[in-house]
Amino acid sequence: MRIDRLEAVQPPTPGSPGDWRTQLGQLLVRVVTADGLEGIGVGSGGAAGVHIIDTVLREVVVGRDFEHPAEMHEQLCRHTAFYGRKGITVMAISGVDLALWDLFGKQAGKPIASILAPDVDLTKSLPTYATVWDDEEAHASIENGAIAVKLHVERFGAPPDVDGIVALVSRTRKALGTEKAIMMDAFGAWDVPSTLQVARGVEQFEVDWIEEPVQPDNAAAYRQLMDQSPVPIAGGEHEYLSEGFQYLVDNKLHSVLQPDINWCGGLTTLVQIYRMAELAGLRVCPHRGSEPYALQAIAALDPNPLAESPRDWFTCLEGASMIHDGRITVPDRPGFGVVVDQAFWNG
Ligand SMILES: [Mg+2]
Repeated sequence: MRIDRLEAVQPPTPGSPGDWRTQLGQLLVRVVTADGLEGIGVGSGGAAGVHIIDTVLREVVVGRDFEHPAEMHEQLCRHTAFYGRKGITVMAISGVDLALWDLFGKQAGKPIASILAPDVDLTKSLPTYATVWDDEEAHASIENGAIAVKLHVERFGAPPDVDGIVALVSRTRKALGTEKAIMMDAFGAWDVPSTLQVARGVEQFEVDWIEEPVQPDNAAAYRQLMDQSPVPIAGGEHEYLSEGFQYLVDNKLHSVLQPDINWCGGLTTLVQIYRMAELAGLRVCPHRGSEPYALQAIAALDPNPLAESPRDWFTCLEGASMIHDGRITVPDRPGFGVVVDQAFWNG
């Protein structure tokens, strides 16, 4: 396969949160072959990501022959290794990798899930969980048939109001009943003592995990939490490439790995993460798993699928599946099954 064109743009995302996701912006990537077949990918990093693609990644991809996206991924990582093994560079590589996989699927005439697992049954829907920011959203998602709910609890401060969190989890457990799952996300805001206080307080309500209780690189804190927390510890949405995840696995820093396919290095990296997690006996639960890119990987590779609700402000992809009664169907169109308006591209 040979790529004739590689383009990247920052799409408008009205309503995106007022943090780095808006400040940096998002990234749409397109690769086009000489025959006019195109692949679409999503990364992150906005104008900075576009700059990396235009100035560095393009020369790796355009005009080169390759058999499989993983070969190109290795070249992209080698080419950027001296300055970009984490963060925006890898977010840009993710967009390119996903565009190449999309093209690969379209050329084969198969959905990505069927390429990863030839006997996958795409008529079966997958269970999802709803990430909610307050009681109102929690109630709405429970009314809409949510199978599981993840509560954002960083709003309880740092150090956190432990009683407030315990009361919230108690109310949510009462509303959900005993069958459905509850998780919590602290956005890296706490320290070890306050995380342990929260974990001991909510343990009685059977919480499936506490996500990112401390900052992503605080390995010593995660090691201590893995030893002492009665609630499993999750993380990894801010980790990059297989080397980064191998460090988390080898050092036993998380019970649940949560790579983001649009940030961590794309599908090539996510496939590697599923493989290492299987060997280590760990669960993978991709960040924002019901968005079109991660969904194909979850359908094909996940023995315990649970797809997180999507970003409602990222609306430039047409063809994304919607969640109904807590479940989502996986598109069976070739590639990732998404289309973007041609008006996004520069020319
Ligand atoms: Mg999170």
